[in-house]
Amino acid sequence: MDATQAIAPLTCTQCGGELHPDEGQVFLTCPFCGATVYLDKSRVVFHWYVAPTLDADQAAAALRRWMSGSETVKDLDAKSQISGQAFRYFPLWYFRWTEGGREQVTLQPAAATSVTELARLNLPAGDLRRYDPALDPDSEPPSVPLEAGVEWFKQGRAGVQIEETALVHVPIYLFKYLYRGQTYTAVVDAASGGVHANIYPAKAELPYRLVGGVAALVFLCLALFPVVGGIVDSENGAGLGLAICAGVGVIAAPLLMAWAAWVAARV
Ligand SMILES: [Zn+2]
Repeated sequence: MDATQAIAPLTCTQCGGELHPDEGQVFLTCPFCGATVYLDKSRVVFHWYVAPTLDADQAAAALRRWMSGSETVKDLDAKSQISGQAFRYFPLWYFRWTEGGREQVTLQPAAATSVTELARLNLPAGDLRRYDPALDPDSEPPSVPLEAGVEWFKQGRAGVQIEETALVHVPIYLFKYLYRGQTYTAVVDAASGGVHANIYPAKAELPYRLVGGVAALVFLCLALFPVVGGIVDSENGAGLGLAICAGVGVIAAPLLMAWAAWVAARV
């Protein structure tokens, strides 16, 4: 008697038919109804995938668009070099539940990964397809047990009833790119074209703060001229100080604005 026979027979999530997986088999197509399922120890859950809508070139174009956007450092698309691009189907645990009459779906990475961006993947609405064994070469099997996924789900959701649990493979392009000698990672969702990156060459905030700080200081100094003038020479001092303040202010304002524009163009 082997371990798989010691437990109750596994049955199909859809039709209830008895399943007889081979030793170590985790992805299975029901011989009775054709449903695709995933076997996690003694549990059987539906197994779906999301079809990609972007090919490799379109995914690279989506990455370039994101790089030329306002979040990243200026001209990142021109100054960086894509050093790696890999396509795969990444596994997520899918939990469907209801809150206040509204259907909710929560996802959790089902494989251990150093790519933290994968935790932010989401699903395009209503586009789950029956998993196809032809995808096996590109799909990563789950390495996080379903139980651990359920435990994670229940944290902070005491008493919530999970109505449906499934395994979903989502298509992604994993990019590596070089910028100023450093390698960065970005994930392009091959279904939505969304780009996920946790660490990237961002616009620097310091130069903007510096411009703002210096401008405030310059005008504060200028505003002191009439005050100091008034103290030094009570008759004409205030008027003279005001004239200096206005005169220098007229010169300083365009200079500071030009500097701000220069910083904005560079950063
Ligand atoms: Zn079935």
